[in-house]
Amino acid sequence: MDFSIPDDVLELQERTRRFVHDEIIPREADPRQGAHGPSEEFRRELIGLARAQGLLSPHVGREWGGLGLDHRGVAVVFEAAGYSPLAPIAMNCFAPDEANMHLLEKVADERQKEQWLRPLAAGAMRSCFMMTEPAPGAGADPSMLKTTARRANDGNYGDFIIDGEKWLITGAVGAGLAIIMARNDSDALGPAGATMFLAPMDTPGIHVERVLDTLDQYMAGGHGVVRLDGVRVPETAVLGRVGEGFRYAQARLAPARLTHCMRWLGAARRAHDIAADYARRRTAFGKPLGEHEGVGFMLADNEMDLHTCRMVIWHTAWVLDQGRHGRHESSMAKVICSEAIWRVVDRSMQVLGGLGITDDTIVAKLFREVRPFRIYDGPSEVHRWSIAQRVLRGGAR
Ligand SMILES: Cc1cc2nc3c(=O)[nH]c(=O)nc-3n(C[C@H](O)[C@H](O)[C@H](O)COP(=O)(O)OP(=O)(O)OC[C@H]3O[C@@H](n4cnc5c(N)ncnc54)[C@H](O)[C@@H]3O)c2cc1C
Repeated sequence: MDFSIPDDVLELQERTRRFVHDEIIPREADPRQGAHGPSEEFRRELIGLARAQGLLSPHVGREWGGLGLDHRGVAVVFEAAGYSPLAPIAMNCFAPDEANMHLLEKVADERQKEQWLRPLAAGAMRSCFMMTEPAPGAGADPSMLKTTARRANDGNYGDFIIDGEKWLITGAVGAGLAIIMARNDSDALGPAGATMFLAPMDTPGIHVERVLDTLDQYMAGGHGVVRLDGVRVPETAVLGRVGEGFRYAQARLAPARLTHCMRWLGAARRAHDIAADYARRRTAFGKPLGEHEGVGFMLADNEMDLHTCRMVIWHTAWVLDQGRHGRHESSMAKVICSEAIWRVVDRSMQVLGGLGITDDTIVAKLFREVRPFRIYDGPSEVHRWSIAQRVLRGGAR
């Protein structure tokens, strides 16, 4: 296992850190960052800043306009970017687009890549991923998928008609592309199963009914409730093969979980730095806060949690770089990191006392961002359940 960081990645890490410090942190108070993420105007401005510095889309292959990093390179750069929640937006490596681009690069055909991946990698548009449904549809258990895709019963038999309801769809408002997951029956042209479709968001029948008010606030476009009402797409809109949607969803999720860990690790490090700085300067009962064991131990626990996350992320990135699917490792990494990152931000808030709950530092905002991470991309309990299944089958070591 090689954990050395190549010189070009170290140089990129340094440039990313400078970019975050000099260009992004000063813009964190911009009023165009609202409850449902940055406005489109602000997002484009941020993208322009990263483009000028050659920092756009580190995860995408060079032939599609990205920086072509492997998973370990991505780990280094995404952690540096995560130091401000606005920097991954600027660098075009935020959720869900980052994972959508990865999926397109792996599964889409050349025509679909030209149509969708190229403009996405350039930051010229956004996309959303429509899997989750209101109860009793797909949630923690994706096999409960209720949205249907049936063949058109007319002259264009290859076309699909999609009907269903989706919710918690990040970035639906303002997206140009929807990746829709729907269930199809078997027919003369393909097997039954779940299928992914690439549909322009302005396709008739896609209705964003409302944007949810949520705890987190940084994901561009917020999280939408979407009705799919007779959405007609041609056979060429199928991503990959009919009936393979669940397999592609797994291929998307294993790296997507890990990239969330990377970005939120950077955010946790920011909270920890702010708390450590406060503990050095603020005094109570005759000495700096950090000299009180209760505070010092919180900082020590933070440091150990951050170190554990970095090790786990690096190991999992290395597994993915070996060409292995890494589902088991990314599942464990997701639970370990989402819970450790939460603890770090929570402790940092505690060290800051009353200041911690104000918006005079960014810690309160980070607190709101990292809590949902224990739910999306698989709740901790579902990962623990699947890890346990593997243990019981004798497959884990
Ligand atoms: C911020 C955010 C962004 C999101 N963005 C998107 C998006 O862009 N696209 C999209 O499709 N979805 C998105 N989601 C949805 C997300 O994937 C789901 O919330 C997640 O899969 C859980 O599904 P659910 O909310 O329906 O929970 P439910 O299925 O209702 O589960 C509720 C709880 O039950 C427990 N539970 C479930 N199964 C088990 C089990 N086997 N063992 C033990 N406990 C269990 C867990 O504690 C779980 O949290 C987003 C969610 C959030 C919070």
